[in-house]
Amino acid sequence: MTKIIPLSSKKKLQLKTKIKVNNVEIGGDKLIIIAGPCSVESREQILDIAEYVKGKGAAILRGGAFKPRTSPYSFRGLGRVALEYLLEAKKRTGLSVITEIMSIHELEYMYDYVDIFQVGSRNMYNYDLLEVLGAQKKPVLLKRGLSATVEEFLMAAEYVLLKGNSNVILCERGIRTFETSTRNTLDINCIPVLKEKTHLPIFVDPSHAAGNKHYVLPLALAAIAAGADGIMVEVHNNPGKALSDGEQSLDYKMYERLVFEISKTFKNITI
Ligand code: PEP
Ligand code: MN
Repeated sequence: MTKIIPLSSKKKLQLKTKIKVNNVEIGGDKLIIIAGPCSVESREQILDIAEYVKGKGAAILRGGAFKPRTSPYSFRGLGRVALEYLLEAKKRTGLSVITEIMSIHELEYMYDYVDIFQVGSRNMYNYDLLEVLGAQKKPVLLKRGLSATVEEFLMAAEYVLLKGNSNVILCERGIRTFETSTRNTLDINCIPVLKEKTHLPIFVDPSHAAGNKHYVLPLALAAIAAGADGIMVEVHNNPGKALSDGEQSLDYKMYERLVFEISKTFKNITI
């Protein structure tokens, strides 16, 4: 039997994949920062955060409308109305919007509201969802499964690519290990490994890896040093009152410091 070369492989395509999202190029020369709250909690909250991060390094606004929570008793997102607020934030700031899609049933409805579809860690193995996203053209940011190997991660991306959508961004967000001092363990290793194997852009989410806002800055710097094309960080106007992931969300001052430290540390990188 002939060996199949995956579409994500550098053996298939030597040139790095660059993804254009409105005025932003992902996988190009600039480091892309995705910033915003874990969840959209109100119109005021998302507009405030969007206005704040705009012009402070962020190229893309994140905010969950449908939240995959470990406990069904936790806040699970505002749902469809959050998409309206995200769209308003986009119109006001010019920032492109990424939000998580959890089900194939939401695709049609969500389509006009989002610039990038996020597939969360818990859905990395949802092959139906991956194939549906592969059959449309908007970019997909695929988060690594909670305990997925690099090979499984790449094969999940393959489900999207195989249906014809070549705009896939991989996002390392920490994996489950025996270590309990942080929420997850950021697998820095996977960055050079993925860079060797694939032409797809690679992002890192230090917020979900750390689970603690104080670790986000060093992990972000480490990710960039290892070659990440971008980072995704949770930022909140009042982390102490956040309805989800407050402990790992940067407040405005910490976010500004993060952007400052990135520019200071990596003089050859433009944000
Ligand atoms: C998120 O980005 O808010 C999220 C739920 O992340 P993950 O899927 O990586 O847990
Ligand atoms: Mn979160």
